Amino acid sequence: MTQDTIVAIATPPGIGGVGIVRVSGSRVRKIAEAIVGRPLHPRIASVATFRDAAGDFIDEGLALFFQAPKSFTGEDVLELQGHGGPVVLDLMLHRCLELGARMARPGEFTERAFLNGKLDLARAEAVADLIESSSVLAARLAGQSLQGVFSRRIETLIEHLTRLRMLIEATLDFPDEEIDVATEQSVASGLRQLIDMTRAIMTEAHQGQMIREGLAVVIAGAPNVGKSSLLNRLSGTDAAIVTPIAGTTRDLLKLDIHVDGLPIRIVDTAGIRQTDDPVEREGVRRAREQLVTADLVLWIHDGIEDAEPMGEASLPSNCPVTRVRNKIDLAGIEPQLAETKTGTEISLSAETGAGLDLLRDHLKAVAGVGTLPGGAFMARRRHLDALNRGLQCLDVAQENLTNQTGPELVAEELLQAQRVFGEITGQVTSDDLLGRIFASFCIGK
Ligand code: GDP
Ligand code: ZN
Repeated sequence: MTQDTIVAIATPPGIGGVGIVRVSGSRVRKIAEAIVGRPLHPRIASVATFRDAAGDFIDEGLALFFQAPKSFTGEDVLELQGHGGPVVLDLMLHRCLELGARMARPGEFTERAFLNGKLDLARAEAVADLIESSSVLAARLAGQSLQGVFSRRIETLIEHLTRLRMLIEATLDFPDEEIDVATEQSVASGLRQLIDMTRAIMTEAHQGQMIREGLAVVIAGAPNVGKSSLLNRLSGTDAAIVTPIAGTTRDLLKLDIHVDGLPIRIVDTAGIRQTDDPVEREGVRRAREQLVTADLVLWIHDGIEDAEPMGEASLPSNCPVTRVRNKIDLAGIEPQLAETKTGTEISLSAETGAGLDLLRDHLKAVAGVGTLPGGAFMARRRHLDALNRGLQCLDVAQENLTNQTGPELVAEELLQAQRVFGEITGQVTSDDLLGRIFASFCIGK
């Protein structure tokens, strides 16, 4: 292990009680001795004075040494915990650079942990997700993933896949013989089981991803039905982080809110209507773009102009719509949630707040929160994409089996699925993928 030695300030910029400089790599022992003035015992916190090249005082604090491979990165690691001031931390950083370390890239500590087999890729990503989680729920799920809940599900999937492949490949060694009926049946049922497992993981991964990135909700409907009022209601009562994003077209308003820990990204489309005005047409185009990627469209109407609800028919097909009848206070109707043939319909009043709880519960139900199993985990788009591609391979394998195209083709698809699932935990990776993942980490992690 002749890795170069990396250093970074691991605590956030600014002033704080404690500031930590972290070093990892082959020069750690030398650096520790030079700064602290004596060798350090592994895994024992020592009170120490940190000195510069001239032997002058920089700071005093705790020095922690972790000997390879028993460290976060799997290499020798030094943590110097001093005072949290930018200048003093900078002096410490420079001292380490002087002693032969180089600045760490974002995520490089975690990347080394991954490369040294301390963490699989999904768990490494969970480290970043935990740090960046925007709600308690997201933090809880990231914690589950960090503990390996998601990775174990993928590993089990890959184990099943490998066993099935071996079963098929065993028959390939006897080319003259047909697969016997018993083998064929157990391959068929094994494959069905694999497909079910994959689907189940995908459902949960999708919930995890939604909680990570937020449920994308679009509010649409005719002018004056109460879209803005509803938006204010939803964000206000949840003491939401309200962040209107500047610079978007005048027609799109974006808000990030939380409903019981579920992040929701709401876009108010402010009326989707056909028009010849070029600026407005651009607004319509952007609104449509939002509709296509939405997890849910809330179609607001006020039940008054009961004619064909303007524009609802113009929603892109296959976008999930919940109809919201607003202003029930005017009609003297009780709030309610009804399942109709065309989907869910909620009656409420943005003005009085009646029925808002029904809407909040509905949003949580759409995201699958509340029905989250104990072992729920965090997941990313990348994971879902891999699960999807793997599932496609399994589907093709099943077709091949049904059409009796020969065991080679079935085995080939299974191998492909195995590779794709392996991308999730990092059994199979490319530098490109790793670069992209770790570049989004913060420095010092
Ligand atoms: P938007 O154009 O769809 O965004 O509609 P607004 O939110 O601007 O609301 C249009 C008008 O309807 C405003 O005068 C609101 O005060 C009123 N309004 C909105 N929601 C309700 C409601 O639930 N009950 C009553 N009585 N008025 C409402
Ligand atoms: Zn409005």
